[in-house]
Amino acid sequence: MNSYSVEALVLRARALGEADRVVTLFSRERGKLQAVARGVRKSASRFGGRLDFFTRLHARLHVGRTFDVLTAVRTVRTVWERLVDPQVFAAVSYVAEVADALCEPGLAVPELYDVLCQFQDAVGAAGASDALLAATEYHVLRALGFAPELDACSHCGAALARRPLAKARAWLSPRSGGLVCTACLHELRAEAPAASDAFSLSAALFGRLRTLRDATLEQAAALEGGADLRRATRPFVTATMGRTPRSLTVATALTSPRRNA
Ligand SMILES: [Zn+2]
Repeated sequence: MNSYSVEALVLRARALGEADRVVTLFSRERGKLQAVARGVRKSASRFGGRLDFFTRLHARLHVGRTFDVLTAVRTVRTVWERLVDPQVFAAVSYVAEVADALCEPGLAVPELYDVLCQFQDAVGAAGASDALLAATEYHVLRALGFAPELDACSHCGAALARRPLAKARAWLSPRSGGLVCTACLHELRAEAPAASDAFSLSAALFGRLRTLRDATLEQAAALEGGADLRRATRPFVTATMGRTPRSLTVATALTSPRRNA
């Protein structure tokens, strides 16, 4: 048995030789994998546009020495027509880059596959919004076991429970993994004042962040104040990746409101 089938999303593609292409897929069954599509850059290719960026597909592959070889591809869903919008393209590029960077090859994470499919569905239905991206950031991190802690202090473990927030603000530290209580905030700042990455949110915004956590991506996309929510979720992505995603600078530029609009 040297062949197998997967359902997957196309995260990335690059040219190989004269006519071939290497695609990075994120599959439900096997996680991230690279496969070669032979002859795909010739006009008569049997794969045609079925390997377009962020297309969801059923693929059959044959095990190869360096890369497995795609032998059959069927499109499940594509949002290609949406990607002509630069904002949508930037948003999808960002999500694909984050998923690619945070996933180990050959490690299945079906929860993440589901999040990416929900993101694709939401983008296909309504395009990209900051609220959708904030929710996607949170849900991608959670699927990978890096969910920002929003119920207890991520440093000492003390439950927030029903205690009021100090001065009606919630403090979060991406490096600590989420919420930090007032005592730990002082401790972290005293230890290394310059290294503290803690930032605060109003109680109302923190409440919306918890709503976003518990909502589906489709529901979250309708939340108000998406840009504020992203200011809370994005630092957790950057901290988890250990760097600023390349596509983020483009995405930020595109989604910022025009100053003189
Ligand atoms: Zn604490």
